[in-house]
Order: sequence, then structure tokens, then C-alpha cells
Amino acid sequence: MKQNMQRKEKRYKKTVRLFLASLCLGLILTTGCGIAGIEEQPLPAETSKNHKQTDAGPWYLTLVNRWNPLPENYDLELAEVEGGELVDQRIYDSLMEMLEAAEAEGLAPIVVSGYRTRAVQQRFMDEKIAEFRQEGFSESEARELAEQWVAIPGTSEHELGLAVDINGDTYDIYPWLQENSYKYGFIFRCPADKQNITGIAEEVWHYRYVGVKAATEMYESGLCLEEYLE
Ligand SMILES: [Zn+2]
Repeated sequence: MKQNMQRKEKRYKKTVRLFLASLCLGLILTTGCGIAGIEEQPLPAETSKNHKQTDAGPWYLTLVNRWNPLPENYDLELAEVEGGELVDQRIYDSLMEMLEAAEAEGLAPIVVSGYRTRAVQQRFMDEKIAEFRQEGFSESEARELAEQWVAIPGTSEHELGLAVDINGDTYDIYPWLQENSYKYGFIFRCPADKQNITGIAEEVWHYRYVGVKAATEMYESGLCLEEYLE
């Protein structure tokens, strides 16, 4: 934690600038391709039940998606990143290295969403259901629609503490992350062409830690996490 605090202090001066930058980008995202930080998850046309993870494997390869809920009594220790978001403390150093590398490229990266409790994920779901209710849908219709856009509580990678949503002051952050995140153990988790397998529409801001070895193999092979674990 002491090291974390030092890092936090070192990066603190950038906070205000980054926060303003993320606000600007947040506006763009809100109007353009959805709100970064809230899972947008249209139901894929063809969903497969074949992506059940059979054995547990190492913690960093835990598969969580709509077919694989969070393990029971999932326990984790959290570390706070600049801006106040939390992540599993085991990925903190790798995340900081990646952010610092992006920072050195002038990309002003910031974590806008990290660990979420079940309750927070439930709140996102409830808000989405309320939105559809206001548009005149019945309770069951509203729920069904909401589940196309928000991960069902218990099935969001953010509840694992291993996923982060990252913004920058321009769109350039996203191609940079796609080309470089594997060096730090993170993968572009939800590419557009894997939607039927991941169950999630493209989310350019959502990165998932899987360790450098797996991330490099997935980057080089083009496999998504579900395919890689098969
Ligand atoms: Zn996310």
C-alpha cells in the first residue's frame, strides 16, 4: 500500500487535467457509442452454451461472462488507482506500468471504472430497467431489454476486479491500447468480431487482465478469452 500511495502521489498532479479530459471524452462517448464504464451488452444473435469454464485455472484466467457467473464467495484485495477507482491489488503494478506508458505517449489515460460490487452492478441494472419503464415498456419487457445492455449482476468482469474501463483525452488511446496492452498483461476483451462468443458488443474502453503470457498469445493469435480457454 505504501508503494501505491507513492505512486498515487506521483500521479496526483495529473488528476485534475485527466478528469477534465475524461469529462470531454465522456460527452463524446455518451453521444457516440454509449457511456464508457457501463457495460453495453446487446444479446448476440447466436449465443452458445459451449463456453463453460470447466476447471478453475489461475486467478487471472477466471472466465466471467453471461454463461459463467462470478465464482461463489469470490474474495479479493483491492488497491485504489488515481481517480478513486479500485482494482484487484495483484494487477495494480501492471496497470500503472501500462498507464504510464500511455501517458508517455501523451494519451492522458484514466481509469473511469474498475471494481464494482454486486450492489453497484445491480444499481446499473435497476437504472436501465427504469429507463425502459419510462419509455412505456412493461416490467418484463423492460428487464429483458435492460439485460441486452447491462451485464446481469454476478456476470460482470468488473465484479472480479480484473477489468478496467479506460478513457483518454482523445480517441487515440484506444488504438494504442489495442496494440500495446498485451505487453502489460491486458487484453482488448470485447472486439466487434467476437460478439457472438463474448456475449458483449464491442467496447473499446474495456480491458481485462490475463497476465503477459496469455495476453501475448491472444494478441498474436487473435483469439478472445473464451476461445483461448477452450
Ligand atoms: Zn467495462
